[in-house]
Amino acid sequence: MTTLRRNGRKMKNRILAFAALLLLSLLHACEKPQQKLETEFIDLFDTVSQVVGYAADYKEFSTFTKQLHEALLEYHKLYDIYNSYEDVNNLKTINDNAGKSPVKVDKRIVELIIFSKKMHSQTNGLVNIALGPVLKIWHDFRTLAAENPNEAAIPEIELLKQANEYTNIEDVLVDEAASTVFLRYEGMSLDVGAIAKGYALERVCEAFEQAGYKSILINLGGNVRAMGAGQNDKPFRVGIKNPLGGKFLNIIAVRDCSLVSSGGYERYYMFNGRRYHHIIDPNTLCPSDYFEAVSVLCRDSALADALSTAIFIMDYESGLALINSLEGVEALWVMHSGEVKYSDGFKAFIVS
Ligand code: ADP
Ligand code: MG
Repeated sequence: MTTLRRNGRKMKNRILAFAALLLLSLLHACEKPQQKLETEFIDLFDTVSQVVGYAADYKEFSTFTKQLHEALLEYHKLYDIYNSYEDVNNLKTINDNAGKSPVKVDKRIVELIIFSKKMHSQTNGLVNIALGPVLKIWHDFRTLAAENPNEAAIPEIELLKQANEYTNIEDVLVDEAASTVFLRYEGMSLDVGAIAKGYALERVCEAFEQAGYKSILINLGGNVRAMGAGQNDKPFRVGIKNPLGGKFLNIIAVRDCSLVSSGGYERYYMFNGRRYHHIIDPNTLCPSDYFEAVSVLCRDSALADALSTAIFIMDYESGLALINSLEGVEALWVMHSGEVKYSDGFKAFIVS
């Protein structure tokens, strides 16, 4: 389905060595038939990821995937809110220092936060990385229910409201020049789950693309990113999962594109016969209930990730208006009835 190849543009840093290796093996590959190769990562962003590519041999492919994995792992560590790592300040360090002091961080954190602030205003505050205190409560209730389903419960609204006192994105203070981030009040915390996977994937793919790579398809836990097109320059074919079960909803044909889905059907717990999932509407402080799932299709996987979370927590009309206001962005919505609605341009990508 994919071909791992380069277009000979200038390369930088460690990608250089890798690319040189790849060039050698691709020269060799002219004589050898290419084979479809796949690999899986299980230690990135608490999810399972797949990479598909075509290469002359496994060595060539594994050299590429090793570099890809290393790059994504760096982002994973920087954006981790649960674990600390030696010699690096990450989002957990920022959260641990809320109300105490600014934390000097890698510029990849500063850039993620600046992008997230932009998405906050573009989505009327629906996607808010400062919602950490509220999300943590739901996370704890979900964890408890998973460990002991008989003790499943939902948080008191008062508890959620108290936590919501500490979720103002304006109190996330970024000093770009000094490369520091400061959460103004103790009790604040960042949760970048709605954006980080897509953002990290976009930055890493961008670097590989600048180094000349294309024809690779990556699925980082439901965030799909196509670098270039597939084998013989034919578009990649990507299946969109049906949240109600059964076969794919649709197969779409894409090149240089991202597809990101959000839904309430994978991470949830049951209480009193109702499903409580992990995407929280900041207006109600509870899981949103508009759709089974949504998907966003556009070039930039960071934008697609943020928008897919956003349109999952707004009604169809508002979501459609937001999608239509953006150039090159399409979406689909799966209603509870199973009906699927599409933005005007989406159907052009559907092959079946
Ligand atoms: P997934 O992480 O399952 O791919 P999303 O991209 O939609 O799905 O992100 C969901 C995650 O985003 C949640 O697990 C939580 O960490 C965070 N989150 C939930 N609701 C919001 C919200 N309103 N604003 C910002 N982040 C949120
Ligand atoms: Mg998202």
